[in-house]
Amino acid sequence: MENYQHILIAADFSEHSQQVINRAQEIAERYQAKLSICHIIEDFPIADFAYEPMISVDLDMRDAMLDSGKKHIADIAKKFDLPTANQWVEFGSPSLNIVSLANDNKVDLIVVGSHGRHGIKLLLGSTANGVLHHALCDVLAVRLTEQ
Ligand code: AMP
Repeated sequence: MENYQHILIAADFSEHSQQVINRAQEIAERYQAKLSICHIIEDFPIADFAYEPMISVDLDMRDAMLDSGKKHIADIAKKFDLPTANQWVEFGSPSLNIVSLANDNKVDLIVVGSHGRHGIKLLLGSTANGVLHHALCDVLAVRLTEQ
């Protein structure tokens, strides 16, 4: 197994996400690796006129979503003394942004859950699947089960 140096937790705040966090933490301790955590707020169209009649987008809402995401991440990070510099919250496409954060920050292991907020019916959730397809580093998909 690789001697991991920088591990990224992809947190979706679902009821199972603690299992993903615990596993990433265990591995980080074992390898004395740096740990970072990210949450991607799924982007929605603002300027696409095709949606105009249906969606009225309030830019304050984006700020509120960003603040709320940062607060959630900070609450998680506090439990294991993770500095603010290793807490990343941004808008975008979850799988693509997780991979690009990993690339930009020399992450060598991404830890995701096998499933997220969309339920555990599929073999692998779409974010987990996208990360596995696009990542340039190792990816651990923690098998999540109903508890
Ligand atoms: P999914 O494939 O969407 O069912 O989610 C699988 C896993 O991907 C979750 O357990 C998380 O680890 C990660 N994930 C999903 N959505 C996000 C998100 N918006 N931000 C960060 N990680 C996410």
